[in-house]
Amino acid sequence: MNKKKKSPVLWLYLLLFSILLISFLTNTGNKIPEISWLEFERDILSQNDVEKIEVINQSVALIYIKSEEGSGSEIKSLQDRFYGSASRPQYSIRLGSLENFEKKLDEAQKDFAPEDQVQIRYVDRFEWSAFLSWIMPLAFLFLIWIFILGRMTSRGRAGSMFNFTKSTAKLTTKETKSSITFDDVAGLKEAKTEIMEIVDFLKNPEHYTRLGAKIPKGVMLVGPPGTGKTLLAKAVAGEAQVPFFFLSGSEFVEMFVGVGASRVRDLFKQAKEHAPSIVFIDEIDAVGRARNRANVFQANDERENTLNQLLAELDGFGVNTGVIVLAATNRADILDKALLRPGRFDRHIYLELPSQKERMEIFKVHIRPLKLAADIDLENLSKLCPGFSGADIANICNEAALIAARKKSDKVCQADFMRARDRIVGGIERKNKITSAKEKEIIAYHEAGHAVSSWHLKHVDSLMKVSIIPRGKSLGSAWYLPEERQIVTKSQFIDQICASLGGRVAEEIVFGDVSSGALDDLEKVTKQAYNMVAYLGLDEEIGPISFYDSTGKNEQMLVKPYSEEMAQRIDREVHKLVTTAYERTRELLMEHRDELEALTRLLIKKEVVDKDDLEEIMGKRNTSLQGESVR
Ligand code: ATP
Repeated sequence: MNKKKKSPVLWLYLLLFSILLISFLTNTGNKIPEISWLEFERDILSQNDVEKIEVINQSVALIYIKSEEGSGSEIKSLQDRFYGSASRPQYSIRLGSLENFEKKLDEAQKDFAPEDQVQIRYVDRFEWSAFLSWIMPLAFLFLIWIFILGRMTSRGRAGSMFNFTKSTAKLTTKETKSSITFDDVAGLKEAKTEIMEIVDFLKNPEHYTRLGAKIPKGVMLVGPPGTGKTLLAKAVAGEAQVPFFFLSGSEFVEMFVGVGASRVRDLFKQAKEHAPSIVFIDEIDAVGRARNRANVFQANDERENTLNQLLAELDGFGVNTGVIVLAATNRADILDKALLRPGRFDRHIYLELPSQKERMEIFKVHIRPLKLAADIDLENLSKLCPGFSGADIANICNEAALIAARKKSDKVCQADFMRARDRIVGGIERKNKITSAKEKEIIAYHEAGHAVSSWHLKHVDSLMKVSIIPRGKSLGSAWYLPEERQIVTKSQFIDQICASLGGRVAEEIVFGDVSSGALDDLEKVTKQAYNMVAYLGLDEEIGPISFYDSTGKNEQMLVKPYSEEMAQRIDREVHKLVTTAYERTRELLMEHRDELEALTRLLIKKEVVDKDDLEEIMGKRNTSLQGESVR
């Protein structure tokens, strides 16, 4: 029979309970009334009632009363009723100094007959109460410590406190197979093919080894957040018929020195025991960050030890041992180069944000559990969600269902999806946030300024609607349909900067005064301008120079990678770029002032203005101006 082992924590609780019990038993009903020397001398000693005195541990004198003499003492007769007679002490006196007590006793018995003189017996005894008074606080602190440790280790699922150096990986085997399969992963065709190949390596290694090929050891999944890296790995767990160890990089990191490294050792030991097997380390950047030679504060020693152990383990298992390590990160740029070299994570699978077609497929996966109305147009929906990741799409589907449920409708319709999209992009509508008419007017001019300027700028994305209903943190918004592009030209950047400045310019033209409402726009514009000048080499004066650092090491440095003079030149150029764009926008809006006024009036009346209204006021947008914008 498999006898379950009692956990050490349980033993500790039992010990504490026993101590409490003993203290209870030794204390209750045993309390001996304490009296002062004066009371003792006046009421007991002078009556010649004392049978004997015992001094315990030189600190307490126990007074035993003569049984046959008791009637003379009022107190004693009372005591007798409660405690019975002289086999146990009736009173105690706490001694300040033993010598003093002896002296006072001699003095008090000076006139007693020798046979009446009371002698002192000295006894040394183990005192439970004294023992408990120091053991209890210690035991209490110890239990709190165990409790905290237990909470920490249970977070890592390592079992009890005594095996927190063990790996915390979750093991999925054939029997406990993950329910996610490749069917649940939409799009990502190339990634799926590559990862299927890895599963095949493990299932049929002889296909490859007979030709002398070495099975790869490590595969790194790289891509922006929410693009399905974890999902893909879970699908591998579901599809591969081999044990699958799943853990997150942060699970190696503990506050105790050496725990990370020993967890890595344990993980690989277990993986080898279960070979052929797959290990998946999610968010590997938590341990795999580049080791910094100039680590002034020595704060990352533990992480570096863990990384070193990981590197050693990856080297340590020979080729074709049947263990493949998958890892995922969205910061491949900050990973240590040693981790990515051939022989370790040498295969890289890049997951991109989904294209429009892929978005449609992802929508199809996530609408499976929903009850849909007939008007759902997935193609349109996927077009209206450019730049959205798989996670965003999953979120939209869920949000749309919640919106429909809130309306108590029995089907989810297209409008619910659109509202869900707006809510995810812009935040929750807060209609009552703006209360004064003046503020509403300023916001309306501000948004109209963005709308009119972007309508007449060649390279700005299509404008879909303008709203002055506050959402999330913003007070109003202009909704664009961004083009799906991989590169951005200088003129596109400049047009975008002008459109972002449109709101501030409109306020200045109309009111001759400016407000704080342009903070977000100005922040965006300034960052964009610095990007153009210092990173992308798009400024003529600075030239094709980039101070961008893809390794991320510069972020930790306190000094800039350029001279003071260059810093001043960059600042000057950024200022010039933004002020030139500002003047250009002002001219544009002065030219179309009537449109600005008309759109503002409509916005104040309707709060949300869509594309048809915009066309009515400003005419059809000249499509030849707009490049290949998606409309
Ligand atoms: P992170 O880097 O932030 O950890 P990730 O790339 O690991 O992100 P996942 O956790 O895999 O992202 O994806 C989050 C959710 O997004 C998934 O649970 C899934 O619902 C949805 N999702 C992402 N990509 C896809 C896809 N290709 N097909 C279906 N659903 C997807």
